[in-house]
Amino acid sequence: MPEIDFKPELRRSQNVDINRLRLKKDEKARVVALKKPAYAWVHTLRAPKIVNGVPVKVKRERRGAMVEEFDLDFVARPICLGDLGTLADEGIDPKNCPACAAAKKSPDEVAPPDRRFALNLIRYSTRADGSLTTPFSCSAVVWSFTEKTFGKLVDIATEHGGIEGRDLILTCSNEGFQQFDVVTGGRNYWQGENVRDIVLETYKSNALADLDVACGRNVEAHWLKKDLDSIRERWAIATGTASIADPSSGNLSDGLDSLFDTVTPGVEPAGVPRSGTGDVDALLGTTPAEEGPAPSMQDILARTDSGAAEDPTKINKQTDSTDYSDLLSKL
Ligand SMILES: [Zn+2]
Repeated sequence: MPEIDFKPELRRSQNVDINRLRLKKDEKARVVALKKPAYAWVHTLRAPKIVNGVPVKVKRERRGAMVEEFDLDFVARPICLGDLGTLADEGIDPKNCPACAAAKKSPDEVAPPDRRFALNLIRYSTRADGSLTTPFSCSAVVWSFTEKTFGKLVDIATEHGGIEGRDLILTCSNEGFQQFDVVTGGRNYWQGENVRDIVLETYKSNALADLDVACGRNVEAHWLKKDLDSIRERWAIATGTASIADPSSGNLSDGLDSLFDTVTPGVEPAGVPRSGTGDVDALLGTTPAEEGPAPSMQDILARTDSGAAEDPTKINKQTDSTDYSDLLSKL
C-alpha cells in the first residue's frame, strides 16, 4: 500500500471555505472593490435526478408554455481544462478539455464553459437606512458572478471611469441565483479619513489571494472524466438507454460521491495572500504592520477621541476617486 504525505496538493477534495457575499431578497449591501476581478472558464455540470432508479421530472415554463423536463441536480463546477486562447476565440476546446469534448458530442447533457468572475470586496457594515454603523466596521467578502453581471459592471466602469475604489450598492433581485442590481454610491466611503486605514487593513488581511477557487474547482483530467462518465450514466438511465442501475451499489454511487464532492460555501477568511501573486504582494508591501504591530486599541480609541466622534462617513475634502488612484495602484 503506498504511503502518502500530508500536503495540500495531495488533497483529493478541494473544499475551500470562502466568505462569499450572499444576500437575501431585497437586501442591500454597500461594497467597494479595491482591485480588479479574476475570471475562469468553468463548466457547470448537471445530471438528471434519479430516485429509486427513476428519473424525476418537473414542469417548467419555457417561453410561455409549460413543459415537462428532467429535474437536474447540480453536480460540480470544474474549471475548464481548455487553452485560454482557444476558449477566447472559440468558446470551447474539445482537444484539451474532456468536458468541452463531451459538450461538443452531447450538447444536451454537458454545457460548454462560461466565464465566471470573482472579485474581492470590502462590505461596509451599514444601518437599515444605508448609513455606516458607528463604530465603523467592514468585512472582506468574495463576490462570484456571471457574464451578465460582468456586462453591468462594464457599463458602470465605462460611465464612471472604473470600478476600483468606487462604492457600489447591490440590491438582491433574485436570492436563489444571487442576482443583484448594481448602482454606484454617491460617495466612496472608504476614502473617509476615519475609515480608510481600517478598510485597507481589512482588505490586506482577508482578501482571497487565489480567486480561481471562487470561480470553480481546479480538477485533473481523470477526475473530470470520472464525473463525466457518471453524468453520462445518469442520462442513460433517464432516457431509458441504460438498464436501471441499483442506486445503492456499484459505480454509480461511487461516481456520485465524487460528483457531490463540490466546493462547500462557508465562512472563512481565506487567508493570507501567498507569495507569487504580484498585486497582493505589492499590497502587503504597503503594510506598515510588517515592521510594527497593528494599531493598538488605545491608538484606535485615541483616534476616535481626537476625531471627536466624527461621523465615520465623513469624507476628506477630496471625494473624487481619481484622487486615490495612487493609493490603489500601490495595493
Ligand atoms: Zn472545457
